[in-house]
Amino acid sequence: MKKVAIVGAGPAGVYCALALRDMGVFDIDIYEKSSPLKTLLVTGGGRCNLTHFADNLKDFAKNYPRGEKFLYSIFSRHFVDDTLDFFKKIGIDTYMQSDDRYFPKSNSASDMRSKMLFALGDTKIINKNISSIKDLKNYDFIVISTGSKGGYKLAQEIGHTIVEPLPSLCGLKLSDDSPKFPQGVVLKTQDGEILFTKDGISGPYVYKISSLNARKKFPYEITIPLINPDDLFNEVKNNPKKSFGNVVCKYVPKSFAAALLGNYNKQCANISKKEIDELKSITFKVVSPDGRGEIVTCGGVNLSQVDNFCRSKLDNKVFFCGEVLDIDGFCGGYNLQNCWSSAYSVALKIKELCA
Ligand SMILES: Cc1cc2nc3c(=O)[nH]c(=O)nc-3n(C[C@H](O)[C@H](O)[C@H](O)COP(=O)(O)OP(=O)(O)OC[C@H]3O[C@@H](n4cnc5c(N)ncnc54)[C@H](O)[C@@H]3O)c2cc1C
Repeated sequence: MKKVAIVGAGPAGVYCALALRDMGVFDIDIYEKSSPLKTLLVTGGGRCNLTHFADNLKDFAKNYPRGEKFLYSIFSRHFVDDTLDFFKKIGIDTYMQSDDRYFPKSNSASDMRSKMLFALGDTKIINKNISSIKDLKNYDFIVISTGSKGGYKLAQEIGHTIVEPLPSLCGLKLSDDSPKFPQGVVLKTQDGEILFTKDGISGPYVYKISSLNARKKFPYEITIPLINPDDLFNEVKNNPKKSFGNVVCKYVPKSFAAALLGNYNKQCANISKKEIDELKSITFKVVSPDGRGEIVTCGGVNLSQVDNFCRSKLDNKVFFCGEVLDIDGFCGGYNLQNCWSSAYSVALKIKELCA
């Protein structure tokens, strides 16, 4: 019987162990320095947004600014429906919300955690921080599923390079000379909401911006579309007696318009085309991440040094899955889907090697 060590009992590590058990590989030890599946508890605001609706694999993979093409083969082995079936088998029913995000029916990450840990049966979870691969020399296979905190050293020990880890899916701090809006104001854009915070911006749209720009040097500028000038022009023309501010409030929150417009009380009859065009978009200067948000890590184990089953090309005993790899996606369940699918690929290859 081959022995498998899994380092890290986060979503990726536990799913890998569950998949191995499902395939009949039972000699598994999981090493966890903290509490197993602790990181799952905070996901989806405590509800665990476990994945996202998928039409097809390639479109789904577009939601990963890092890892898109690498994920094609990973997803071809185990994708969204397979994941939902897998969870159903261990007693976790799921549902899709109107925005295409999947959650457990219990709406509880804590319940999901309990069910996943229960399904591990007699698999040992050993409370230990693995500081060197040498600690695991008695195992035939080693799975590194340490997330972004704690596993890079292990990978480097066997020669892997780490793509510089940087925060993604986070709020952003703005420069002092950026336009200012009251804290708590929410601006709806066609790409999602922007929440104005004490020193910057946050919310779903901002997380996406932070993800797309994760490797950009600070400071950088972002331009956000505001009001279609043709629509605003017609509205102004049809309401010559109204104040400009009143008309603009049709498109943006009042507190936002009040802070934005120097010409709030000016009558529409006196508003120029230039004043309308100025509201087409707004530009902010971003100076740094704000340290809050869903915060996943952009960067990690270099994908060129693993094969398409996430097996190390430098040490064929070693595998990686989950966030430790240089793969990260947008909000919406994409990061956990990477955990489930990459963990499954690893399990499949180990099962094949055990036969
Ligand atoms: C607030 C928040 C909300 C989120 N919500 C969502 C969401 O709703 N949907 C979604 O898809 N994604 C979400 N994410 C992202 C998601 O949680 C991560 O992508 C996911 O947890 C990564 O799983 P992982 O198993 O790869 O790593 P981790 O979850 O980081 O787990 C790694 C485990 O390994 C252990 N470990 C590390 N080093 C060692 C070592 N040397 N020895 C022993 N043990 C070790 C750690 O203690 C940890 O338990 C959210 C993230 C945050 C921060």
